[in-house]
Amino acid sequence: MRALQYVAAGRVEWDDIPPPTLASDGDVIVEPVAVASCDLDAALVTGLPMFPPPFTLGHEFVARVVDLGDDVEQVREGDLVVVPFQISCGACRRCTSGITANCERVPRRSMFGFGAGGGSWDGAMADRVRVPFAARMLVRLPAGVSPAAVASVSDNVADGWRTVAPHLAGRTDRSVLILSASTIGLYAADAAAALGAERVTYVDPDAHRRELAASVGADVIEGPWQRHYGPADITVNATAETDALHAAVRSTAPGGVCTSVGIYWDDALPMPMLSMYGISLTFVTGRANVRVAIPEILELVAAGRLHPEQFTALTVPWDDAQPAWANLRGKTVFVR
Ligand SMILES: [Zn+2]
Ligand SMILES: [Zn+2]
Repeated sequence: MRALQYVAAGRVEWDDIPPPTLASDGDVIVEPVAVASCDLDAALVTGLPMFPPPFTLGHEFVARVVDLGDDVEQVREGDLVVVPFQISCGACRRCTSGITANCERVPRRSMFGFGAGGGSWDGAMADRVRVPFAARMLVRLPAGVSPAAVASVSDNVADGWRTVAPHLAGRTDRSVLILSASTIGLYAADAAAALGAERVTYVDPDAHRRELAASVGADVIEGPWQRHYGPADITVNATAETDALHAAVRSTAPGGVCTSVGIYWDDALPMPMLSMYGISLTFVTGRANVRVAIPEILELVAAGRLHPEQFTALTVPWDDAQPAWANLRGKTVFVR
């Protein structure tokens, strides 16, 4: 089958590789129909030591079910499904506690589209992908929702969602501040507005992303990062910059929650511990438990309350994916 492979730093090519087959009765084989680039993918193909090539790219996707193991009754051939980017069994102690990003039954960091560095699972930019634990992994697409609109729900949309949704649940008196240099920050702004945050403030050095945030009702502030901003109950760092992280922490109102989605390749990063102590801060970071968030996100998209497609910079036909993937600019969705 044909697969778009990351073969060396800066090199992306279509290759012919063997198609996957059902390896257990719990597996499903799917055909990806819409694949989104993740905010990490642009950096990935320039060469990240943690993820050595070669491997098939793509981990945010909607797919069609084409073959099923005998134990899978929850989906049928032909169903359109969102495939979470992380592999989770859905049945172990962690998965049943909602910690699907760290399932006990697979090696750490198990995910599609990262090659050996992500546990050697398949990638989405291929004709076929094997999905294990399919009964609990896959989430059926609601009627009327276009695959391209929700391709990124596998990862980045869910990552933005988790920074605000759990803390806004049932409350409309909470303010949100998002420091962003990514699409994840925009998804967070959209979710915060949809869930009735009292006020959403969005800070970003990029003018185009500020315009998009303003279009969902956020008050926007131009970067670079200030030392702090007016306090907000819920703060989000959707950058990988230390100044932004510290500003988000310092701008959290007493008793508030600060979530950082950026990956800092550093185990000794200083944190403003005195400020954190003074405001009784709850700090959240780490991989999002995307499988848990996906059903609720799809419900809001189907109801017309969330619009992830408005942040898609580019939609590219499948056959034209190679040059676009080699030079990603913003959220790109590849459609078959
Ligand atoms: Zn990703
Ligand atoms: Zn599990």
